[in-house]
Amino acid sequence: MKVAMVIPPYRYGADPSQWITVPPQGYGGIQWVVATLMDGLLEAGCEILLLGAPGSPVQDGVTVSDTVETADIHAVIEAFGPDIVHDHSNTAALPANNHRPTVSTHHLNSVPELQTNGIYLSRAQRTAAGSASAPVIRLPVNPARCQFQEVKDDYLLFLGRVSAHKGVREAAAFARAVGVPLTVAGPAWEKDYLDALLADFPHTVRYVGEVGGSARTRLIAHARAQLVLSQPWGGPFGGRWIEPGATVVSEAAASGTPVIATDNGCLPEIVPGVGTVLPTGREITPGDAKAVLASLPTAQVVRETAVDRWGHHTIARQYLAVYKRAVSGEVWT
Ligand code: UDP
Repeated sequence: MKVAMVIPPYRYGADPSQWITVPPQGYGGIQWVVATLMDGLLEAGCEILLLGAPGSPVQDGVTVSDTVETADIHAVIEAFGPDIVHDHSNTAALPANNHRPTVSTHHLNSVPELQTNGIYLSRAQRTAAGSASAPVIRLPVNPARCQFQEVKDDYLLFLGRVSAHKGVREAAAFARAVGVPLTVAGPAWEKDYLDALLADFPHTVRYVGEVGGSARTRLIAHARAQLVLSQPWGGPFGGRWIEPGATVVSEAAASGTPVIATDNGCLPEIVPGVGTVLPTGREITPGDAKAVLASLPTAQVVRETAVDRWGHHTIARQYLAVYKRAVSGEVWT
């Protein structure tokens, strides 16, 4: 099958000629999802046109387009002649005159621009978008892109955007309660939030900035647990934050690192089996935190569960089934 993969182009760093690639140089949830999905689709024999990520590594079966202007994307898609267009941009990069069979994976937590042929990452995200029956397909992970580590080092990890809705302060409070240092990695666009975090948890938090490449995989694999204590407020687009899919959960689990999460959005749907879910807003005592840490599943169990549920072959098969529904003319909302 020929697939045109449309993602939103985002600039990387201060150099205006650089774009976040697939896979990304550092932070990049959508770019990691698309890289992993492409791994599965390529192994299933698909041919892919990638739009929105100029400079992405060349690989067999993939054409990387340099075009980022929506006005030009239509011609590039038509020249490729895909069976299906797979949008990840909430229509932002999708040409208005696109008439090909199209599906849209929604990566945010609001009502999407295009509600036809949507695919959601969790039931919580789908409900918030007002759909009851569109397919839910979990975020994929390719174990070959992760490092597996059975014996852990003595730190907990927060990996992601250093923002209130991602619960970095709550992660620091958990780490302090249990007496284990917290490594915080990720871009900190809200400087006041980071400054307050470092001032309030000086003996607990070690901030290492944005990470990529082998430093990233090593950091994930060696952590005792990854903290994903998302909060229902403080999201980047206002309103209630409902964690839509949480790429970091499948990546941590495939690396043998268990997850400690809140019950926000997708997390109670995906974390059982690879970690523990805590009620949002609950004050964590040192006794609670120690009990949580002691009760986590082993690295081996967590890895096997992740690959079984979210391995790139499994998720690519689910996408191919949905592509076929759209190609045959089926329409859903
Ligand atoms: N990430 C990274 N380096 C960093 C911080 C984050 O590579 O310094 C990656 C992380 O591994 C994950 C993605 O960025 O793949 C964040 O995706 P997630 O779905 O967890 O968060 P969101 O997209 O909601 O910000």
